[in-house]
Amino acid sequence: MPKIEISVERCKGCERCNDACPAKILGMTQKLNARGYSYAQVNDRRKCLGCRLCAINCPDLAIEVFAEGTTYEFFHY
Ligand code: SF4
Ligand code: SF4
Repeated sequence: MPKIEISVERCKGCERCNDACPAKILGMTQKLNARGYSYAQVNDRRKCLGCRLCAINCPDLAIEVFAEGTTYEFFHY
């Protein structure tokens, strides 16, 4: 199962990762980080596809995805 790590303090709450996720398993917390931003969280890790689109679309490099294979394999280029 892919593992997603979100850096709470790097996140600025832009929600781009939420929009990018094809499985729609990301959301935003009600809590705020030290900079006063609501930050991204994984709501249902079991449904993660390991596609890395969340990490690719994060402008602040706040997400790391640990998954087998490559993005190219996921999309079957
Ligand atoms: S790796 Fe893909 S499916 Fe998993 S949380 Fe990121 S965008 Fe969503
Ligand atoms: S794209 Fe990055 S900065 Fe924006 S909400 Fe997601 S983790 Fe936070």
